[in-house]
Amino acid sequence: MKNTISTVHFSLLKKLFHFINPLVRLGERKYSYFLPLFVTITIATLSEFFIISVFNNPELRGLIAIFMFISIILYFSLRDGLKGGFTSATVTILYYLYIVYDQGETRESIQTIALFGLIYFAIAGIIGWLRQSIDRLIEKETDDRRRLNVVIEQLPVGVIINDKDGSVEFANKQAENILGVKIPIGYQIYQKPLVKTTYLGKPVASSKTIFAQHLKSTKPIIGREYEVYRPDGKKVYIQSNSSAILNRKGEVIATASIFNNITEQKEAELRKDDFVNMASHELKTPLTSMQLYVDTLASSIKKSNNSKTSKLVTGIKLQINRLQKLVAELLDVSRLQTGRLTYSKEKFILDDLILDAIETLEATKKQKRIEFTSHYKGNLIADKFRVTQVLNNLLTNAIKYSPENTKVIVKTKRTDGFALVSVKDFGIGIDKTQHKKIFDRLYQVTDKYEKTFPGLGMGLYISKEIIKTHRGKIWVESKKGKGSIFYFSLPIAKE
Ligand code: ADP
Repeated sequence: MKNTISTVHFSLLKKLFHFINPLVRLGERKYSYFLPLFVTITIATLSEFFIISVFNNPELRGLIAIFMFISIILYFSLRDGLKGGFTSATVTILYYLYIVYDQGETRESIQTIALFGLIYFAIAGIIGWLRQSIDRLIEKETDDRRRLNVVIEQLPVGVIINDKDGSVEFANKQAENILGVKIPIGYQIYQKPLVKTTYLGKPVASSKTIFAQHLKSTKPIIGREYEVYRPDGKKVYIQSNSSAILNRKGEVIATASIFNNITEQKEAELRKDDFVNMASHELKTPLTSMQLYVDTLASSIKKSNNSKTSKLVTGIKLQINRLQKLVAELLDVSRLQTGRLTYSKEKFILDDLILDAIETLEATKKQKRIEFTSHYKGNLIADKFRVTQVLNNLLTNAIKYSPENTKVIVKTKRTDGFALVSVKDFGIGIDKTQHKKIFDRLYQVTDKYEKTFPGLGMGLYISKEIIKTHRGKIWVESKKGKGSIFYFSLPIAKE
């Protein structure tokens, strides 16, 4: 019972404070004449009554009147802008005139009132104008925000804005639709995620959330894909772009995440990857058998000394090799997509690996055009088979994309804890705009001239992934028509 009474008192007090607080309706631009008029007249009447009956001191009457009415004018200009300030000031001046009239007016007292009037109206003018300007500014900002909110609500992507402490400041309907949950404003989304999310198959740790990362670095995070497990049991894939919002001092004040539902596209991709994986597995077995049959056939033809048939069989072998290489690349791409490409590291001498690769390649291509200069004689600890695959790919490309009578130059050197390998050719070269793209999956430079080269655009993608897993780098320097130099670096293990 006592409790209910005190709650009622408290809420009444709160309401009263709310009513009295001159700044509570900031931005609303609702100014009243009535309240300033009513309150100032009431206070003038009451003060007249109390000051005369209680103090009976005309000097004190003047002094109290000055302070009290300045406060009232200040209060109402702050509360009701110019309307409030001027109304209070007018009533005050009328009241002063009445006092002067009551005390027997003199020329001097009229002059004093005129001076006070000037000061009071100036105060009411300045404070009232300030209040109205602030209101206009706030209104403009609120309108801008409303406009922006309407735009964000219409977007076909999810948008969540968090303040610097990680609580939700804004989330649009689409964000709730994609994640399948209500997102309450003020919710501490990063302390207690609304939905279970994984990145590359692993649950997202709180130190790895976009929010946590933006507190460390203000760089935008673009195109990151997450799997989201919605409360209704559905699994959706989202692609998110996010960035930190900074204040003028460059401090993070909020983070904004924009995400897309890419489930359909992702599932189609997964189906395609599954198909490629299955198809390449299915192709591998008959190809291996074919190779065995052709090898047997080749050796029996060799015995019978039939050079024409021998040539044909060599041709078949070459085509089978090409098919096997393509199938192996397809399998690698599909394994990379599903994270199933495994690596087994061992220690080896880089020079030996390069010399072996050159020798095998020159033997199969039946041409000698690769020169090798080594400035790093040391070891590497890496997956030998995969590093050979990268080198083979660069060498085959160098041969494929340059005229037969030109050289291919391989060099190695040591730079800051890395072994650097370069493969230089004097062939068709690559335009600067393509330098990054050629390392993408299934990307081939296509123009009238280059279409004549066979290939599927998988080699450099696989090479990039292999080098990336070894914590190295791969890149190209090239100009169209001026040949290319492909580089890759691998960390030298500390002995
Ligand atoms: P592909 O099987 O098509 O050779 P890659 O992934 O190995 O696939 O290469 C991707 C593309 O990069 C090629 O299609 C080609 O256009 C370009 N490229 C690669 N190496 C060279 C090179 N040495 N000179 C010119 N273009 C090259």
